[in-house]
Amino acid sequence: DTSETVNAENPNCSTELPEGYLQRVEHGKETAGKRHKRKSDARNPLERYHMKYLCVTDLCAQGWCEQQMVYSIELPGFLQPERVALMDRGASIHLARELEVHDIVSVCTKTREDSWAVKFLNLLTTISVLQAGGPVRECPVFGEIDGIFLVGVIDELHYTPKGELELSELKTRGRPSLPTNAQKRNHHLQVKVYKHMFDAMVRGQMNLDNLIRHLCLRPEQPLGAHVKEHAEKAGLTVNCFGDLLELTCLSLTFSDLPNIDRLTLEYHYQKDNTLIGTETVHFGNIEEELQDYMAFWKGWRETKGVDIEEAWKCRSCNYVDICEWRKTMGTVINHTKRTKQ
Ligand code: SF4
Repeated sequence: DTSETVNAENPNCSTELPEGYLQRVEHGKETAGKRHKRKSDARNPLERYHMKYLCVTDLCAQGWCEQQMVYSIELPGFLQPERVALMDRGASIHLARELEVHDIVSVCTKTREDSWAVKFLNLLTTISVLQAGGPVRECPVFGEIDGIFLVGVIDELHYTPKGELELSELKTRGRPSLPTNAQKRNHHLQVKVYKHMFDAMVRGQMNLDNLIRHLCLRPEQPLGAHVKEHAEKAGLTVNCFGDLLELTCLSLTFSDLPNIDRLTLEYHYQKDNTLIGTETVHFGNIEEELQDYMAFWKGWRETKGVDIEEAWKCRSCNYVDICEWRKTMGTVINHTKRTKQ
């Protein structure tokens, strides 16, 4: 999940415009024009953008700048090439670490249920490795917060020498320095949400009906031949998607896995993968923290950009030339200056 890290990197913008930039700005203006019509659109953002669920990294992007996150959905392909390169390098480091603990196998999927089945099979494998006291990487987590379904992937879970279950999240950095406080806030939120979701899962709180309803999946859908074969190699006999869901729920409920005891962030320099530093995150009540985030997704309020104190974020934003929020904020800044004169 390097996207929010890259967003958080705040690198200096290139002075050269990437290919297609101006066309995308024009497209952005059109989209911005359509935004006025959106005010009369009764659909909430989840419905408007055809999203059945959120990824935890969506919340992190929202925490950085909600307006920027909305533009990234409405104007995909707007990323500057140097940022794409940073994301690719981050992804390679994550992949190398994942390969240290297990092989990656391709499974051919034919239906949406097949695709989700592979995620649940990964979760089942994770449960058994953790039960045996081993470390796991790329652990999927699912759950509902404030009526919205969330999906995430924890970088690493392992037991410390004291027997505590520790979540370790790897962040790759384009510079050999620790992030700023604004960047760290997002990383803290991410691991706190992961803990909240993992703990709820191992307490047996994954509600199958909710999951099926949010994701619009068919429990009776037979699994594809490749998915079944993959399940059989893991010692599981399942026929339809619902069988696998029930098996996952039972395994979680009767696993005796503990809650996560420690949350750690590990910052690595992308260039040579050296460790820059680690940080322990204290866990608090995130449901309260997320209420304002969720209010946006439920359509209870309009999109917000950054506060005036954080206007420095706009300097490295791809959407600075088309941003409506920034234009409004500019008016506020000018007005404030005039009132002070
Ligand atoms: Fe957010 Fe500033 Fe970018 Fe607008 S220009 S989307 S307010 S970061």
